[in-house]
Amino acid sequence: MGNIVIIGGMAAGCKVASRLSRLLRGHKIIVIEKMPFVSMNSCGLLPFVAGEIDDVSDLMRTSYNVLRDEKYFDSVRNVNVLTKTEACEIDTRKRELVCRAIDSGDKFRLPYDSLVIATGFQPVKPEFSLRDSTLISSFHYLSDAQKFREKVQHGAISKVVIIGGGIKGCSLAEALVTLWGIDVALIEREENLLPVLLDREIAYYIQSSIKSGKLDLILSSSIEKIEDDKRGSLNVCLQNGESILADYVFCCTGVKPSTDLARGANIQTGVTGGIIVDEKMRTSVEHVWAAGSCVELTNMVTGQGDYFPSNPLSIRMGRVAADSILGRESSLKGTVRPFSLKLFDKFICGAGLTERYARKFGLNVGSVVGCWSDGADYYRDSKPIIAKLVYEKPGLRLLGLQMAGEKDLTRYIDLFSELLSRRRTVECLLQVELASSPGCGASDILLNHLGTMAINQELDGVKNVSPVDAMSFKGTFIDVREPHERTDHPFSNSCIGIPMSDLRTRLNDFNSNQEIIFVCGMGSRGYEAARMFLNHGYKRVSYLGGGILLYDAVRVENFKRLNRTNG
Ligand SMILES: Cc1cc2nc3c(=O)[nH]c(=O)nc-3n(C[C@H](O)[C@H](O)[C@H](O)COP(=O)(O)OP(=O)(O)OC[C@H]3O[C@@H](n4cnc5c(N)ncnc54)[C@H](O)[C@@H]3O)c2cc1C
Repeated sequence: MGNIVIIGGMAAGCKVASRLSRLLRGHKIIVIEKMPFVSMNSCGLLPFVAGEIDDVSDLMRTSYNVLRDEKYFDSVRNVNVLTKTEACEIDTRKRELVCRAIDSGDKFRLPYDSLVIATGFQPVKPEFSLRDSTLISSFHYLSDAQKFREKVQHGAISKVVIIGGGIKGCSLAEALVTLWGIDVALIEREENLLPVLLDREIAYYIQSSIKSGKLDLILSSSIEKIEDDKRGSLNVCLQNGESILADYVFCCTGVKPSTDLARGANIQTGVTGGIIVDEKMRTSVEHVWAAGSCVELTNMVTGQGDYFPSNPLSIRMGRVAADSILGRESSLKGTVRPFSLKLFDKFICGAGLTERYARKFGLNVGSVVGCWSDGADYYRDSKPIIAKLVYEKPGLRLLGLQMAGEKDLTRYIDLFSELLSRRRTVECLLQVELASSPGCGASDILLNHLGTMAINQELDGVKNVSPVDAMSFKGTFIDVREPHERTDHPFSNSCIGIPMSDLRTRLNDFNSNQEIIFVCGMGSRGYEAARMFLNHGYKRVSYLGGGILLYDAVRVENFKRLNRTNG
């Protein structure tokens, strides 16, 4: 096996090196890293920028508080780490790497028997022109976080513009508002936050629940340019003519795999720009492996190439690459894109495809939306959980799940991800068994419920209508809540009110072809009502998914959106 050379010394590269060093004796393992440090956990940049962590070296320490530097890798792992060294060229014919010591500029050649490319990822340059400025950065590198921390600690920053409402932009916005008390304008080109991860119902619910007066959400808006302001600030000019003054601008406009080196060596890259690998992390060129956020993986839902940078995935890829070099059985089949984040009081998570994406991809899609309590019914202070399930018709294969609530919801997503990766159907949700206790009682059956809602819809014709679709419904809404629950509310005032307790006596009051959506607080009574009418011979009845609670959020956010787009 001889010389094993790894390019990139962060999550993936260090995992390859550490795993190899545990399993091998008498081989040379060399890591080439252009930064002056190794093995930094980039996920920690957020708590660092937020001021929760003060010492940046904490991001490079083991769980037992030892610094993972060159000395550590040498003495503990027998791995030779060359920091401040750039790999400039891969000569796959001679099996040599051309490297450059960054300080001296000296070049040298490094022979390899096995090479691992773990060059990671980099921020995408925004579409608008961007000048060099000490007041503008991405949020990707340690230097970005350090630059901002220094300024904020000197009190030089009271207003920040963040461009991009993806996970990074949203998490950063919350951190700056909550922990530094900074005013933030978060600008997103699409009509909702987290547009790649969430459909409108769920995103609108989250947006409508953000109550901080310090966060200004500017959606459906693009940047034209950023100018210097006379007072030493920046002027962020939007395409609609508006402009926003800021002391600092973060560009969180996406990331892409770093693959120049691989492409220079004619190593195959895929549709997403990432390096193509097989399940054992082997690239298209012999003796060369790749791992981490420079790699394109298979999306296990679509079966197509996908790009999903994530820390646990990078580490898993590193382990598989090391095993593969050693000829051990180990593989990674792809990703189902699980994600989670916290935004103010909401936990948001999901996996798989959104409905919007699945339709774009050409799938025949069904979906159900619902609302549950995050505690048993007898806890009056329980809070809502909103969830949307996306599946394929016919066959009812699971495609995706999105959720938001005030408690950590990852237990649902972790389990759902496993079902997705096994290409399971909606029926499997009915088999899911979750632990139950009063504190998290009611939601122990949430996945079962989502499954039954989809089956009720597809097999029994009890249609669940998304609040987004209900906005354009021209038929009759019947509100089945009891009178004491109904408030003076524009939507419920436009509904016919028939309390659930009276509904059975009114079964003959309507034309059996009349289009009716039954409405209640969170959706469950609406379902019961629709079922009752269907059983009585009505043909075009359905219920409002998530009830008035979700409808309200969608209505308010949709109103804001229309106001924005109509100027
Ligand atoms: C701010 C931030 C927050 C994040 N939060 C999360 C999170 O909450 N959850 C999550 O799952 N993931 C998160 N991620 C993503 C996660 O950190 C990455 O997916 C993971 O770290 C990728 O590891 P990697 O080793 O593949 O790549 P990288 O971390 O990009 O490391 C690649 C290394 O290769 C080096 N390199 C590149 N080219 C060369 C060359 N030619 N010569 C020498 N060295 C080279 C680079 O300098 C770099 O240090 C976050 C990322 C960032 C930036």
